[in-house]
Amino acid sequence: MFFKDIVGHEDIIRHMKSSIERGQVSHAYIIHGEPDSGKKMLARTFAQTLLCEEGGTEPCGRCHSCVQAASGSHPDIIMLAHEKPNAYSVDEIRSELVETMDVKPYKSKYKIYIVPDADLISQQSQNTILKTIEEPPEYGIVILLCSNMDKLLPTVKSRCVVMDTRPVRELDMLEYLQKNMGLTEDKAHFCIDFAQGNMGKAIKLATNDEYAQVVETVVSVMKKIHDLDVEDLTQSMENIEKFKLSINDCLDLMAMWYRDILMLKVTGKIDKLLFRDEYAILKKHASLVSFGAVEEKIEAISRARRRLEANANFDVTMELLLLTLKE
Ligand SMILES: [Zn+2]
Repeated sequence: MFFKDIVGHEDIIRHMKSSIERGQVSHAYIIHGEPDSGKKMLARTFAQTLLCEEGGTEPCGRCHSCVQAASGSHPDIIMLAHEKPNAYSVDEIRSELVETMDVKPYKSKYKIYIVPDADLISQQSQNTILKTIEEPPEYGIVILLCSNMDKLLPTVKSRCVVMDTRPVRELDMLEYLQKNMGLTEDKAHFCIDFAQGNMGKAIKLATNDEYAQVVETVVSVMKKIHDLDVEDLTQSMENIEKFKLSINDCLDLMAMWYRDILMLKVTGKIDKLLFRDEYAILKKHASLVSFGAVEEKIEAISRARRRLEANANFDVTMELLLLTLKE
């Protein structure tokens, strides 16, 4: 892992490097950005650089510390994990972070905790972390990764250096997907349009079969959305249920389907479409629904997303959504 290999995120990398250079590394950071936007990669590279035996602003990649960091087995880089899909338990935070912070690092200058999905930490547990980041030992660094800043206590946010990931430039993504991953230009463009500046999402779409299946499933549901009968609805629900864990991607794709319809209604042009292969059916749908209806459908998708985030029942929410989209 090297900073120089990371596509985009120049601001964050510059900040990290200059804090190392000036000897002004903070004890607490938040890296904020949507899922797959590269938060963990940035945190891990920062941690590796901080612990590199060469002491530069780019990890050397050869020293013992770098090798351990790259393989994920460095004893002074602690990556927290949560067993439940939607929450850290009080105990996980206490036993993996709060109570071990006082134990000195094994061999390094720093002991670095990386906390993915920090927005899944309860307020009660955030308060216990607060004590740790208010008076950390000299060597202690906590890096919280989160995609929803609203879930973090203001007191936690105010004590951290906050770094926001920004969308990666389209040209940089295109170059990476074509040169490093060997994608054809068409495929690369599809991944880029879908990912909207999120490199991890583009790579996932390009490399992950399950992800490709998500796209296929959503497209097949959307294609016949206006003709759904009860049987189709049940079948569609079963298909979507399989991708329950990637439901946000499903919803993104559904919203993009309607963005394509809007695009067709406004410009009538095929070259701006994400689902270019489905031109004929999109055109038919575009002639069936009004502008207002398309906007309502996009809003219904956002509403479903909010409900699921608030832990509403999955089946009920999705069934309601499909029925609204069918109208
Ligand atoms: Zn090194």
